[in-house]
Amino acid sequence: MKNKINIGVIGTGHLGQHHVKHFLDLPEVNLVGIHDVNPKQMTSMEKQYGVKPFTSLSSLIQSCDALSLVTPTETHAEVAQACIASGKHVFIEKPITKNLREANLLVEMAQAKNTLIQVGHIERLNPAIRALRPFPVAPKFVEIQRLAPYTIRGTDVPVVLDLMIHDIDILLSIVSSPVKNIQATGVSILTDSVDIAHARIRFENGTVASMVSSRVAQDKVRKIKLFQKDLYATMDLLLGLTEVYQISDSEISASEANQTAPFEYHGRKRLISYEKPPIIKADALRDELDNFIQSIQGKAKPIVDGNAGRDALEIALNIQEKIIQDIH
Ligand code: NAD
Repeated sequence: MKNKINIGVIGTGHLGQHHVKHFLDLPEVNLVGIHDVNPKQMTSMEKQYGVKPFTSLSSLIQSCDALSLVTPTETHAEVAQACIASGKHVFIEKPITKNLREANLLVEMAQAKNTLIQVGHIERLNPAIRALRPFPVAPKFVEIQRLAPYTIRGTDVPVVLDLMIHDIDILLSIVSSPVKNIQATGVSILTDSVDIAHARIRFENGTVASMVSSRVAQDKVRKIKLFQKDLYATMDLLLGLTEVYQISDSEISASEANQTAPFEYHGRKRLISYEKPPIIKADALRDELDNFIQSIQGKAKPIVDGNAGRDALEIALNIQEKIIQDIH
């Protein structure tokens, strides 16, 4: 097991099971074991995957180089603190913590202990977002929709912290400017907290984003549209599909799907170029966990580090606060 990273998974419910499966499969990982407060869950995981259950959290922490935290959000801060205090790297599922004070504490602790924090904002690795990377993105207006039919999962938090936070993280990674102001409203429909949220964010560089998230929808929709001078991009995160239209003086570099059409405005003749990059076949969770391992080995940087997780949480909490003010 020399050179392999010793990993433990804490919390092996709905999502934690997938972490276990991927860590068992990643070549540079030795999955030391798991810990879950539910003993039945540990027995079932031991039977299904042959992983070693640890009834003591501190024993698992001491036996590992790094830990993956897939427990309910309200427990992230306490569990992560125990890991970081022992000098261990942590992968924390999103959202990083339930409040900003906890997130700041974790980021400071990790800095002091020289350990990594990676946050599970998995949509950063969505094929549609990856396909956008080669394009000269500097949007002036962004429109985002994330709709989902109701399920009990995730209803322990408002829709902003469950669904919208994915898009906030993507937005902050695309717009390189501080947030200037936020307007938001929302409605409670099926739960006591906000089930549909609408936010309008203005950045200091003038970019405006309009975001809608809902857990009261007939069908799933996850779409992002970017508009900027001479470029329009549309992404379907469910299909992993990105389509980009650009206007230029000459044909833009060829891809197989490229099509061009003439464009004329005020006598100036230019070309509209349409690009549809091939859909990247990838498992975002596997790639995200692999990025964590490579970051520990010093071969990469966390795609979403503790600061990015903290920033997305800050905006999400701000939006949630604005919604509450708007409703009351
Ligand atoms: P879950 O309820 O299915 O599983 C949580 C597991 O943690 C359970 O087995 C529970 O017994 C265990 N647990 C609870 N408290 C614990 C503690 N203190 N120590 C050890 N184990 C504990 O929840 P889930 O749907 O798997 O969600 C877990 C986390 O993953 C949440 O933070 C959630 O927001 C996040 N999540 C992220 C995504 C994503 O898209 N990245 C998707 C789903 C869930």
